[in-house]
Amino acid sequence: MPGKDDCVIVSAVATRQPSAGTVVVLGNGPVGQTAALLLARWNVPVVVLDARPERDSIGSRAICQHRDVLDVWEAVGAGRRIAAEGVTWTTARTFYKDRELFAYTLPQQGSSCFPPFVNISQSRTEEILDERIAACPRIDVRWNHCVVGLAQDHAGVVVSCETPAGVVEIEAAYALACVGARGDDVRQRLGARFDGHSFDDRFLICDIRAELPGWANERRFYFDPAWNPGRQVLIHPCPGSTFRIDWQVPGDYDVEAEEAAGALDARIRAIIGDRPYEVVWKSVYRFHSRVVDRMRIGRVLLAGDCAHLVAPFGARGLNSGVADAENAAWKLAYVLHGWAAEDLLESYHQERHAAALENLAVTGATMEFLVPHDEGGCRRRVDILTRAASDPSARREVDSGRLAEPFWYVESPLTTADPSRPFGGRPERGATVPAGPGILVPDAPISLAGSACGRLREIARDGFLLLATPGVDLAMIEGAAADGARGPVRVLALREIDATGVLGEALGARPGEVWVIRPDAHVAAVLTLPTLADVTGALRRARGGGIGPLTGPGRA
Ligand SMILES: Cc1cc2nc3c(=O)[nH]c(=O)nc-3n(C[C@H](O)[C@H](O)[C@H](O)COP(=O)(O)OP(=O)(O)OC[C@H]3O[C@@H](n4cnc5c(N)ncnc54)[C@H](O)[C@@H]3O)c2cc1C
Repeated sequence: MPGKDDCVIVSAVATRQPSAGTVVVLGNGPVGQTAALLLARWNVPVVVLDARPERDSIGSRAICQHRDVLDVWEAVGAGRRIAAEGVTWTTARTFYKDRELFAYTLPQQGSSCFPPFVNISQSRTEEILDERIAACPRIDVRWNHCVVGLAQDHAGVVVSCETPAGVVEIEAAYALACVGARGDDVRQRLGARFDGHSFDDRFLICDIRAELPGWANERRFYFDPAWNPGRQVLIHPCPGSTFRIDWQVPGDYDVEAEEAAGALDARIRAIIGDRPYEVVWKSVYRFHSRVVDRMRIGRVLLAGDCAHLVAPFGARGLNSGVADAENAAWKLAYVLHGWAAEDLLESYHQERHAAALENLAVTGATMEFLVPHDEGGCRRRVDILTRAASDPSARREVDSGRLAEPFWYVESPLTTADPSRPFGGRPERGATVPAGPGILVPDAPISLAGSACGRLREIARDGFLLLATPGVDLAMIEGAAADGARGPVRVLALREIDATGVLGEALGARPGEVWVIRPDAHVAAVLTLPTLADVTGALRRARGGGIGPLTGPGRA
């Protein structure tokens, strides 16, 4: 295994040293932090570079984290802590003017140990991830390293950084660019386009501390309330009796002028009445809808806000950035350990770019409903909201944000299709996709002899997992798993680990099946009465064996 010293720092004039096994992560935001922790978990040494002098926890952007993202963070020892410190909410209420249109409760698939969503400030999440990083000797964090150059060839990448001591060059095998929305320079150096558009309206975001009885476990969305006519307001509970209030405001809105005139206080009081409150943080945002044309450029993978920007309604920003980090980490690890060919990295672009496009489509539709860009759209919105007060079928058309959900890799070259489990497309809002090829495997309690593991997802992330239902020749499956040179593969009989039956039911498992589960807990294949060749073929495909050699921008 490569060691920490494989990342060699040299002055701009010194001879470069080879650095075969290291990944350099550009950007120490939450996506870069998550990627570094996951890579280290795969025993890959990581250097994390950030332009800032240190972590500044001023303000907070993301607050709403999805259960499956908590689960990824749990794999690096942070999920339960983030969940315990966060506020759990399960109900989403939607109002039009002074009337509640509907409320829905978020669904549970399988039996996760995490609630559907937890609200916690991004700055607190980053602190908790920092603590995990500090305990991890394979991660070398370098603040005050502003990336100003990025070169690559067939052997690796060279990252040039401006530091207080001058320019340094850092060599590594691969780079993961997580430099966020403002990473124009890095994107340009990579030749990545960042097409899309920015929305005209702005959003005033205030975190206030106040006692608001009954509001502590609900997300509330108000269309056209008397206190923000023609626009909307979103209220989320956060830890410590804090509430995130998000007003849509006109494009020329000036928060300083409003505060000086005392109108900000009036704006807040219109919602909370005469209760005492304190403003913890406030900011005005303009939202964007953009995605890079390539998420893999040779030896560099782009992740998080560096690769895609969406309006935050639906909480798809950081939640999808964490999924990028996980997808990148296992694939980089497999390539670096020699368990898969470099072609596997191309599937990072294919899978995560498709996920980004899905997020753009979903949040774009939401923004079109929230901020229609023409008269026809405005009329449609009023019509739907008016009808929704009395017509339940119109409620489906009310779009206050479709909450984050894991993407389904059904069209990925890593996935083996199962004709008996056809993908039904994007499910109804609030519903989940049935388990099957490409889908994130539902979590469930398991009992594993000689192990303290109590959940499927705890073992799913250790390598490939082959789960056999009754009627499968287990010895034959074990033969398929025996090739240790291709990385860890574990074979388990479903009936031996699923005493409660919860897992089998969540999977919709049938006799004679082998479920092939990838190291990011997505199902790669469901094979019925497979031969040895079927199983090895599905494993080979899931490690990128079906991706042919590439020409063009994906190749270094
Ligand atoms: C108002 C608002 C609310 C949101 N709410 C949610 C939510 O509820 N849920 C959700 O999932 N998402 C939400 N998001 C989105 C979320 O905040 C982002 O998706 C998340 O911050 C992206 O993390 P990142 O690590 O990709 O980028 P960032 O957090 O931007 O981190 C990028 C890092 O790269 C560093 N960097 C930049 N350039 C360089 C360089 N040249 N060299 C070295 N370092 C560099 C920066 O210093 C920074 O540390 C929200 C966003 C906004 C604006």
